[in-house]
Amino acid sequence: RIGTSLGCVGARICSRIFMLMENTARPTACIVGAGLGGLATSVRLAAQGFRVTVFESGPSAGGKATWFEQAGYTFDAGPSLFTLPELVDDLFAVAGEDPAAFEYAEESIACRYFWNDGLHFEAPAEPKQFAQAASEIFGEDAGRVLKYLDEAAHAYQHFGKVFLENPLNEFSTWTNLMTLKLAKEIFRVDLLGTMDSHNRRAFNNPKLVQLFNRFATYNGSDPYRAPGLLTMIPHLEHGVGSFFPKGGIRAIPRVLQQLAEKMGVEFHFNKTVEQIEVAERAAKGVLVDGVSHSFDLIVSNMDVVPTYRRLLPNQPAPEKTLSQERSSSALIFYWGIAKEFSKLGLHNIFFADDYRAEFDGLFSSKAPSPDPTVYIHISSKCEATDAPYGKENWFVMINAPHDANVNWDDYKARAREAILKKLSERLGDDVESLIETEATLSPPEIEAKTHSYRGALYGAASNNKFAAFLRHPNRTSRIDRLLFVGGSVHPGGGIPLVLLSAKIAADAAKKYFITK
Ligand code: FAD
Repeated sequence: RIGTSLGCVGARICSRIFMLMENTARPTACIVGAGLGGLATSVRLAAQGFRVTVFESGPSAGGKATWFEQAGYTFDAGPSLFTLPELVDDLFAVAGEDPAAFEYAEESIACRYFWNDGLHFEAPAEPKQFAQAASEIFGEDAGRVLKYLDEAAHAYQHFGKVFLENPLNEFSTWTNLMTLKLAKEIFRVDLLGTMDSHNRRAFNNPKLVQLFNRFATYNGSDPYRAPGLLTMIPHLEHGVGSFFPKGGIRAIPRVLQQLAEKMGVEFHFNKTVEQIEVAERAAKGVLVDGVSHSFDLIVSNMDVVPTYRRLLPNQPAPEKTLSQERSSSALIFYWGIAKEFSKLGLHNIFFADDYRAEFDGLFSSKAPSPDPTVYIHISSKCEATDAPYGKENWFVMINAPHDANVNWDDYKARAREAILKKLSERLGDDVESLIETEATLSPPEIEAKTHSYRGALYGAASNNKFAAFLRHPNRTSRIDRLLFVGGSVHPGGGIPLVLLSAKIAADAAKKYFITK
């Protein structure tokens, strides 16, 4: 962070020069949506010298990373797990500001796991401690567990980073040294199997297999179909680390909006972009409230499916890409709980007995599980003012199918009953009687609030080996001066990947405009 702080001085001087330049000399960029992808892109483009305008259909910035207050409780409504905080620091450096303004703390316990038979595992974030604790709880050889995490780290460093930090549709990605190294590494990674088969080969204890299978849900996929390559995901939590931003997850969109405004980015809230105007195969402007606005560059932070269907109705769409299976979604109950539970932490998971059946329900039958895996995030464990004294703000989430032919009233009622039964049994308390206030969020509501196609959390699912290559790129050869950022396009969903998509898109903008 010290290096980043020092490095930002030069960037600050450059950005101030741009602010002083004649407005007319600077190319203009419009960003459709102020999700984390849109916010990060706005900072990067402003730093590159663009005059940036953001239209956001909601009343505030953040998209899925929004929040609300109810009856004295504060809830972060969307993401709760935060890794790779240096990607936020990097935006400060790019803006020429001190990243110390964004504070976060590393969590020593990554997650608390609970099983129906009463087993409880507090998973240390640090790999060696994790391996030791896992060996004690699951009877697994500690060296074997550590080897698994080392391999995840290796795959991430040598393979994942190339995929996540570069555009896969650019020739240059495939001809540089890094990618050549990757060709060597590819043979070390189990590409043919699924995450589940990889994990079953690695461990004897089915509970440890289940624990590592659950990382498929970090991009809304099914561990019984997702490629073994995704077993690199645990490295983010048990290697890079799990973090909590001071002020909660909502601090991320807040600081990014502040940063963008400092760079001169103009925000227009409650303004929906109705169309992206295209002429001679190049984006020329946007239509908002029936009024046409011209821009040199358009960046869509809207989900890629409605971007084509609604904003580009007259342009040929990449049908194969758009028709990919969507990721899973989520059903969330926000509960103000009139008690503190010492055995719960910031992140808690209560596993289902039959994990495979649960994923069949998510991606095939779409039926709610009578024994769902329940995730509880309690930000008041770290941010005391998020709940009244002696109480806790529970964000209770189960994985749910994306919205297709589901009766959500029925689904919600059945899921609520199953969750309450499970939690009451495991915690030895009548949880329902402790609920002081309640709100819910379902897949159709996620779609209504953020325009995410079918309410999927992460765009397309990664349920096959080629999914990474089938995601829509950040720049398309079909339409010039149009870029795509966010969780539905390359490299994928989740806070870190969305921030990386902004970097790749902003780099692509340099192909059209040399601003520095
Ligand atoms: P979005 O957040 O989808 O924002 C897009 C924005 O564009 C919205 O504000 C929308 O209103 C606006 N918009 C769309 N169309 C238009 C238009 N035509 N005109 C104007 N504005 C428009 N990630 C993690 O890393 N960790 C987690 O623990 C995690 N948990 C999650 C839990 C839930 C319940 C949800 C919903 C998501 C979770 N995620 C998590 C995923 C993460 O939140 C997203 O990947 C990320 O926030 C998506 O950012 P985005 O930029 O793609 O866009």
